[in-house]
Amino acid sequence: MTGRTHDMAAFTALAFIALTQPLPQISLATGITAVFANMIGGIAPDIDQPTAPLWRNLPVGGVFGRVFRVVSGGHRFIFHSILGIILFGFAWHYFLQILQPSFPQVDLNIIWWSFMIGFVSHLVMDTFTKEGVPWLLPIPVKFGIPPIKDFRVLTGGFIERFIIFPVLIILTIYIFFYYQKTLLDFLHNHLK
Ligand SMILES: [Zn+2]
Repeated sequence: MTGRTHDMAAFTALAFIALTQPLPQISLATGITAVFANMIGGIAPDIDQPTAPLWRNLPVGGVFGRVFRVVSGGHRFIFHSILGIILFGFAWHYFLQILQPSFPQVDLNIIWWSFMIGFVSHLVMDTFTKEGVPWLLPIPVKFGIPPIKDFRVLTGGFIERFIIFPVLIILTIYIFFYYQKTLLDFLHNHLK
């Protein structure tokens, strides 16, 4: 899937999970940072792909992308697996712990979750594409839904752009409507 679809899916997942869990008391800084972390998490697994949006937007991104590609063994390798989720989760947690003293007003636990929700949503979305996802690496089998490849989605193709992307937007709006009370409660009483 393209970066745009991944970011939309990440946000949809974040909105749904945030509104169906007990609401935390968070600062505005935490809320804004959480949304950004979620967007980055949504495209992060593609750092093993040199053409990923993450790299395209950086001046020397192509070079880094190629290095990561060699390290990870190519697109949809280690970062597109359960092992990748665990490794990234630990590294990201460690990184945030180093940052915490510098950002006392930001709840980095929330930031960790927002990023990881984006990360996992990426793998779920890629599972619907023709390439599939090697969820169980190092077992080199790619999984897809539906199992028959021909019925799956082509990355950047018509179905992704004109069906999946708009459906994600509608779904997000529906979530906001359905959990309107919770959303207002959050905005009024839980945002410091
Ligand atoms: Zn991907």
